Amino acid sequence: NKFVFVTGGVMSGLGKGITAASLGRLLTNAGFDVTAVKVDPYLNVDAGTMNPYQHGEVYVLKDGGEVDLDLGNYERFLDVDMTSDHNVTTGKVYQEVIERERAGDYLGKTVQVIPHVTDDIKRRIREAAEGTDVCIVEIGGTVGDIEGMPYLEALRQFSHEQDEEDLLFTHVTLVPNSKNGEQKTKPTQHSVKELRSIGLQPDILVGRNPERLDPDVKEKIALFCDVDTEAVFSNPDVDDIYHVPLVLEEEGLDEYVMERLAIADDALVPDER
Ligand code: ADP
Repeated sequence: NKFVFVTGGVMSGLGKGITAASLGRLLTNAGFDVTAVKVDPYLNVDAGTMNPYQHGEVYVLKDGGEVDLDLGNYERFLDVDMTSDHNVTTGKVYQEVIERERAGDYLGKTVQVIPHVTDDIKRRIREAAEGTDVCIVEIGGTVGDIEGMPYLEALRQFSHEQDEEDLLFTHVTLVPNSKNGEQKTKPTQHSVKELRSIGLQPDILVGRNPERLDPDVKEKIALFCDVDTEAVFSNPDVDDIYHVPLVLEEEGLDEYVMERLAIADDALVPDER
């Protein structure tokens, strides 16, 4: 299994979910079997009890799972059926850990966020990815949120447990315009700094701006955030979100991801999948 983790910086509602789903579409087009996991760091077990005025409609899956609307994007973009196991929430994770604690499964140990909660997070992600080539894992919320910390810690551990070429960290971030129309990189620098302070170095940065990023802005982001210039991608505003995969393809995101995951040009022979 290969994993692409997608985190978000600066603010929510940036288009992290659409970016993740679009990358999934491009990898599906390239012939890979792709699935996705949406991580929602809230304490609700699922979205079934959440106020639709606040959260949008509850999306109901074939298995009856009541989940976040984002799962609908993944089902539509990837053309796959997902199950409630593809929506990891803090509520689900804690419910499981506490039930196991009551059953005595931890054999008297002190039950802690690290390793017990992080182990359960990693288990859920690995199980959801089983039998596929690539699993895209979107971490809801923004880097720096207290609720998201156990997930980012789980990703840090993941990076030690998997081969380097099996993992890719993608960070979707805001590149705002200043009043005089300049594309500003400072918020991106700060959110990458935040990621690095918890031991995660992004491999890929996707900058959200109304327009494509200027080449020198990409270069500046690469330099300050310690990624390749070719690893900085634009995700400009488009009229129709179903055009986002096309824009990202033009930017070369799919090629770069396949190269980094060593699955380019059929490098992945079928029995290795
Ligand atoms: P996040 O996951 O960062 O919270 P979403 O992926 O749910 O954000 O997107 C937030 C909103 O922005 C959605 O309404 C989505 O349709 C819209 N959106 C996302 N990407 C783009 C884009 N490239 N151009 C225009 N609108 C976009």
